[in-house]
Amino acid sequence: MEWVELPNVLGMSQHADGGHMASKPYIASGKYIQRMSNYCAGCRYRPDRAVGPGACPYTTLYWAFLDRHAERFRLHPRLGQQVRNLERMPEAQRAEIRQRADVIRAGLPQD
Ligand code: SF4
Repeated sequence: MEWVELPNVLGMSQHADGGHMASKPYIASGKYIQRMSNYCAGCRYRPDRAVGPGACPYTTLYWAFLDRHAERFRLHPRLGQQVRNLERMPEAQRAEIRQRADVIRAGLPQD
């Protein structure tokens, strides 16, 4: 239904409403998907890894999103802790996350 699709699917998932309806971007790592579903049980990726062998693309993109928007969300009441966790990672690991996220995005359909 359009009335729920626009605010929930676009507004929440893309944080497209700028935070007016959702208090934070509806983002999730592979670890969260693993906790909330049984999808990861037979998957070749490892939901706990953002980089390295078997890194889960959802986990990579989750940390890459936080990396890209760290300034904006550093003091956010619901995301600040995750930004601080990100900032505890060595810079080399953050760079690897950004690089892998670029590779993942490049492999997505462009239209
Ligand atoms: S890609 Fe990641 S989140 Fe999706 S099933 Fe595999 S391990 Fe789980």
